[in-house]
Amino acid sequence: MSDAPFLRLRAVSRRYCVGGQEVNALRAIDLDIASGEMIALVGASGSGKSTLMNILGCLDRPNSGTYSVAGRDTSMLDPDETAALRCAYFGFVFQRYHLLSQLTARDNVEIPAVYAGASVAERHARATELLTRLGLGERLDHLPNELSGGQQQRVSVARALMNGGAVILADEPTGALDSATGEEMMKLLLALNAQGHTLIIATHDHQVAGHAKRIIEMADGVIVSDCAIGHAYEAASPAPSIATVRPASWSRYGEAARMAFLALRAHRLRTALTALGVIIGVFAVIMTVALGDSAQHFLEKSLASLNTKTFEIEPGKEFGDPHADRVQTLTVQDVDALRRQYYVHSVSPRQMTSSLLRYGSSSGLATVWGVGESYFDAKSLAIVAGVAFDAEDVARQTQVVVIDENIQRQFFASENPLGKTVYIGNLPCMIIGVVGHLEGRLEQSTDKKLNVWVPFSVVSSRLTGRRHLQNIFLRLRADQSTEVAERRITELFLERHRTKDFIVWNLDDQIKTTENVVQLMSLVFAAIGAISLVVGGVGVMNIMLVSAAERAKEIGIRIAVGARRSDIRDQFLTEAVAACLLGAAGGVAICVVIAAVMAWLLPTDFEFVLSGHAIAIAVACAALTGVVAGYAPARKAARLDPVEALARD
Ligand code: ADP
Ligand code: MG
Repeated sequence: MSDAPFLRLRAVSRRYCVGGQEVNALRAIDLDIASGEMIALVGASGSGKSTLMNILGCLDRPNSGTYSVAGRDTSMLDPDETAALRCAYFGFVFQRYHLLSQLTARDNVEIPAVYAGASVAERHARATELLTRLGLGERLDHLPNELSGGQQQRVSVARALMNGGAVILADEPTGALDSATGEEMMKLLLALNAQGHTLIIATHDHQVAGHAKRIIEMADGVIVSDCAIGHAYEAASPAPSIATVRPASWSRYGEAARMAFLALRAHRLRTALTALGVIIGVFAVIMTVALGDSAQHFLEKSLASLNTKTFEIEPGKEFGDPHADRVQTLTVQDVDALRRQYYVHSVSPRQMTSSLLRYGSSSGLATVWGVGESYFDAKSLAIVAGVAFDAEDVARQTQVVVIDENIQRQFFASENPLGKTVYIGNLPCMIIGVVGHLEGRLEQSTDKKLNVWVPFSVVSSRLTGRRHLQNIFLRLRADQSTEVAERRITELFLERHRTKDFIVWNLDDQIKTTENVVQLMSLVFAAIGAISLVVGGVGVMNIMLVSAAERAKEIGIRIAVGARRSDIRDQFLTEAVAACLLGAAGGVAICVVIAAVMAWLLPTDFEFVLSGHAIAIAVACAALTGVVAGYAPARKAARLDPVEALARD
C-alpha cells in the first residue's frame, strides 16, 4: 500500500448537463500523484483544471471512474466520511481567497480546526502561529476587507495549513494578485512544498508553472502532456497534524452558537426583522396568558370575600320554575330540621321585600330582609353598633330593626341611631343595631343601597302576610364539603316533602362557572397569542430561506474547509433558534416594562400578574418555533452543492 500513489485517478470523467447539452469537463483522466509532489496544472480557460481540482479535493465526485486517496476509494465514502477526508488531508487556496467576511483573519484560519474538533486553545495557538509564520502576526484580528489581496491570500494559505494541509490545492492562487505579490505567494507555496506538503497549482500563467517540478497540461478535458522537470522532494508520510475526532456535541453547539451570533450580528437589520415577528408573538402569548391569569386572580380575590360555604334553598322544581311562588311547602319547621343537622353551622329563614323607610324628614326605598337570629352569623354580617335581635325577639315578633351604615349616614348623620324608631312602610320599629359595610357582600353591591334586617316573624305577619318561606339561608361548618352537604340537604328535603319542590343551590357552583368562563377566555387569548407566534415563525422561515440562498458562498467555503452537512445544518438551525430566542428576550422585556407601567397605573386591587410560567411557555414556544421554522432552510443549506455554491458571487 505504501508504494501506491498517494492520489490516484482512473478513467475519471465529469460531465455537466447545460440546457439539455452535455459538456464533458473531464474525459477519462488517469493520473497518479505521489506525496510531496509539486504539480502545475496548466491549460486554457475551460480546459477542466478547476473541475479536476475539485475532484482531487473531494469537493466534487466524478460521474465515472475511480479516485482514491491514500488507498481509500472515495466513491465508497458517505458525505460525512468525505468531509472528514477533506478536512484531514486537503487545504484549498482559491483565486478569490474565499474568506468569510464577518470573521477575523484568525477566526477564518481556525474554521478547519473547528470542524476537525480541535479544542479552542489548541486551534487558537495554531492559527496564531501559522499567521505569524506567514507574516501576519500583526493582523490577527483584522477582518478580510481590512487586508490587502496578498494578505488575504496568505490568510487562506494559513487556513489550508490549519489541519495539516498534506495536499494544498491552489486554483489560480495568483490570479487576483499583482505580479510582485503573486511572485511572493509562489515563493511561499514553494517553501511549503519544500517542507513536504504536496502542492497542486492550477494556473494558466506559464511563469507560475515554471516553478513546478511536474507540469500537466490539459485541453478540452483530457491530459495532453505530463512532464517531470527535476525531482520531487522526498516527503514524509502526509499525516494530518490535528486529530480529526468528532467534537463533543456541546462544544459543537457552542461553536454553532458563536457562528450564529456572528452571522446575526453581521446582518443586524435582517436579524431585527426576523426577531420582530417573534417579539410580537412572544409578547402576545405572555400578555394574553398574563391577562387571563390576572383576571382569574382578581376574580378569586373578589370571591374570597364572599362566603362560599353557603347554601340557599328555595321553592320550585328547578331554576326558573314559573310556578315557584305557588309552592308553599318551605316552612319554619324545615329550618328547625336543618338546624339539627351535623353539617350545619347556622341556618336562617329569609324573606326579602322592599319598603319605604322613614325617619323624621328622611325617607328612602330600602330592602327589607326578614331573617332569623342566626342570619347575621350565617352571612358573616358584623354588627358595628348595638346588637342583633335574638331568638326571643323572633319568637315574640318584637318590632326591632338592624340598619346598615348607609342608612345611618343618610338618615342620622352624626346622631346616634340606636333606640330611635323608624317606619318601615307603616310599621314602627326600634333600631337596635348597625351592620358594618362589608366589601363584596351581595346585599350591598352599591353604596347607595339601603338595607334593613327585621325578625322574620315580623316581616311575615306584618309586612308580607306570607307564612311560608321564600328562601332558607344556610352556612356549612367550615370542615364540611359542599358536595356532600348538597346531597344530604336534598335527601333531607325529599324525605320531608316527599316530592322535589325545592332547589338547593350553592355559590360555589356559580363561582366555578365563572371561573370556567375566565379559564376558557384565557385559553382563547393564549391561542390568539400562539397564532401570532406561528406567523412570526413563518417570517423566520422565510428570512432563513433567503439567508440560506444568499449565503451559499459561505456554505461552499465552510464545506470546502471540512464542514459536514450536519455542521451546516446545525449552524443554520442554531441561527434560527437564536433569532427566535432574541425575539423572545425582546418580547419578555417589553412585557416586563408594560407590567411595571400597569402596576403603576392600575388600581391596586387589580394586580397584573406577569407569571413565570407564561414567560417560560412563551420562550419555549419561541425556541420551538426556531427549530420548526429553521429546519427546512437548514436542510436546504446543508444540501447545497459546494462547487456550485463557491462559483456564486
Ligand atoms: P478551467 O478551470 O480549466 O477554466 P473548468 O474546470 O472550470 O475549466 O471547466 C471545464 C468545463 O466545464 C468548461 O467547459 C465549463 O464551461 C464546464 N463547467 C464547469 N463547471 C460547470 C458547471 N457547474 N455547470 C456546467 N458546466 C460547467
Ligand atoms: Mg478554473
